[in-house]
Amino acid sequence: MRKFDVIVVGGGPAGAVTARVAAKAGATVLLLERRSQIEEPSACAGLVSPRTLSVLGASEACVVRRLRDATFHAPGGTVLSVHATSDRALVVDRSTLERELLARARDAGVEVRLGVSATAWTGGALEMAAPDGKETAAAAVLVGADGPESRVALWCGLRSFALGLSAAQAEVESAPEGDRVDVFVGRHVAPGFFAWSIPAQTGRLRVGLAVSSGVPPAPFLDRLLESRFPDRRVVARVEGTIPVPLPADGRIAGGGALLVGDAAAQVKPLSGGGLYFGGLCARLAGRAASRAAREARDCETHLERYETACHELLGPETRFGLAARSARDALDDADWDRLFSLLNRSDLLAVVSERIDIDHLRHMVPPLVSHPRLWGTLFTAWDLVRRRLGAEGGVAGSRDECL
Ligand SMILES: Cc1cc2nc3c(=O)[nH]c(=O)nc-3n(C[C@H](O)[C@H](O)[C@H](O)COP(=O)(O)OP(=O)(O)OC[C@H]3O[C@@H](n4cnc5c(N)ncnc54)[C@H](O)[C@@H]3O)c2cc1C
Repeated sequence: MRKFDVIVVGGGPAGAVTARVAAKAGATVLLLERRSQIEEPSACAGLVSPRTLSVLGASEACVVRRLRDATFHAPGGTVLSVHATSDRALVVDRSTLERELLARARDAGVEVRLGVSATAWTGGALEMAAPDGKETAAAAVLVGADGPESRVALWCGLRSFALGLSAAQAEVESAPEGDRVDVFVGRHVAPGFFAWSIPAQTGRLRVGLAVSSGVPPAPFLDRLLESRFPDRRVVARVEGTIPVPLPADGRIAGGGALLVGDAAAQVKPLSGGGLYFGGLCARLAGRAASRAAREARDCETHLERYETACHELLGPETRFGLAARSARDALDDADWDRLFSLLNRSDLLAVVSERIDIDHLRHMVPPLVSHPRLWGTLFTAWDLVRRRLGAEGGVAGSRDECL
């Protein structure tokens, strides 16, 4: 049986970065990906902050658009528009990004095997289903980068399985659109989350949404396409899961294994984006896995430190995002129009346009409250949300209960 310091299950962005970082730190690394080819369509809108590519260690070869503007649509037709003065988001071609990350892992010395599924993990040995039959390999550390429905998490008794949001996305043909993201909110549009339209390659839009777990997303997507994009040809459709961030005691490392990326629910709670948080944690994961494998006596200490470091890194934004999400979920469709009418002030939107950072939405709060002329509007908006939250039993999932 072949032996590796680290075996990474999953060749998505988090797995590829973890494997590369572990190999660069001196570990022998095997990465398994069950897909035999990395190709579109993928269940991802590909919207990331410019800093995400450097966090992942990717070039700009995957970038298909640069965006500054966003328009938010309330159900009754009220809109809020944000016009930033510099690029705030990139739209990437996901398969180009993944191929580059896997190539960079190979260059770092990782043995990358496509078309191979991990099927079981017992006593330090991983069973795999490869095109030529069953194989087994041993590892000092197993990394679960196998997405929101992680099997590694189950095999290793890590995080208790949390249900995720159900998402659906269509790629539609369109006339060349402006470089603008559209976000559609409301219980009728996407109960429990929101819908989006993102310009991608020329003549293509990614139109998608996520809804509360257990709600089928396809009928909501059909309705969105019919109402907002009639007569547009649908080129491809995909479905996927967006994990919900874990409670603070959700275990993501221990017993010779660690989880990273969607497998560890490392996503932004307000937007569901996982490439930035997953990339940050993958760098920690690669270093931790390498150390844990090579310093066998301190293996569990290194894994524990990884878990603590992730909680510290993501905790503040996660707590803010979950509290804001509870507030968002409490609003009914009429509230959204009321709220957007209130917030539709040029001075307020100018502050948002200048300061918006899609990875750290909480950083927008201090600049907003630093303008006394906005206090009246912000208080009225907060009061509307507070009343709804009171009616729904308060902010769930905030403070110390989560990461
Ligand atoms: C509709 C939708 C839109 C999204 N849009 C955005 C966005 O705009 N921006 C953003 O930042 N995030 C977005 N996300 C989230 C983002 O796609 C994920 O956070 C990201 O893909 C997580 O990367 P990962 O490597 O952790 O997991 P994944 O990308 O899920 O990769 C896991 C890999 O593991 C493989 N695998 C699973 N089990 C096994 C096994 N047993 N053996 C071998 N291989 C296995 C899978 O084939 C897969 O390739 C979106 C998600 C959805 C569903």
